[in-house]
Amino acid sequence: MIRIENLCVNYGAVRALRDVSLEASPGRVTAVLGANGAGKTTLLRAISGLVKPKSGSIVFGEHSLIDVTTENIARLGVAHVPEGRGVIGELTVEENLRLGALASKVNISEGLEAQYAQFPALGDRRKKYCATLSGGERQMLAMARALIAQPEVLLLDEPSLGLAPQVTSELMKSILRLCESKNLTVILVEQNAKSALRIAHTAVVLHLGTVVASDDADKVASDDDLRRYYLGLVQ
Ligand code: ATP
Repeated sequence: MIRIENLCVNYGAVRALRDVSLEASPGRVTAVLGANGAGKTTLLRAISGLVKPKSGSIVFGEHSLIDVTTENIARLGVAHVPEGRGVIGELTVEENLRLGALASKVNISEGLEAQYAQFPALGDRRKKYCATLSGGERQMLAMARALIAQPEVLLLDEPSLGLAPQVTSELMKSILRLCESKNLTVILVEQNAKSALRIAHTAVVLHLGTVVASDDADKVASDDDLRRYYLGLVQ
């Protein structure tokens, strides 16, 4: 479980997050939604130690993540798949996956086989350069690279970015399947609220760095004001 209370993050004079509180539980997808500049990416970066909060708390299980290095946060079991996926085009699928396992104690051959079983398309392309993959395959690879280290928490930043609707729909289903089958705590940042709300259990809506709603995803999905004013889902 990730528990965040009254989190504030500034970039100089920009107040990117203001008193943000939320909880994310194992086996559940917590969607973090909102327009450009709402603070979604900053929230994930704060959890994984890439930006230092001004105040507030972030607790994972028994561990405070404040003032813990990014490497140690990853070692505790928090994996971050950044926007743009962060896979390396000049390396093969398998080489990218090996990088994901480097800092962990996982047995690399077993880890690779587990990811190929989970994402068969990656197994078929294991020797291909990542630059030759489709957008959907790259996103799968980015997730597999995070999962190979067997994290408990998966932070996903805009996984649907640039993907066709059908590919996004398949990707969302695989995120839900992974979350439930591995009891992962998934925090899913998306501007594509419609797709994220189809699979999320809980939804948090951010606007200009503050939480404007936090509820069961189906309640958020059926709230006309939230849909219209914050989620860009005009009926
Ligand atoms: P997007 O989908 O556009 O990335 P977001 O909801 O993820 O939006 P953030 O990227 O977290 O929002 O940005 C929150 C606020 O912080 C915005 O006002 C943004 O301009 C500002 N910001 C983000 N990164 C920096 C930075 N490195 N330096 C200064 N301001 C920043």
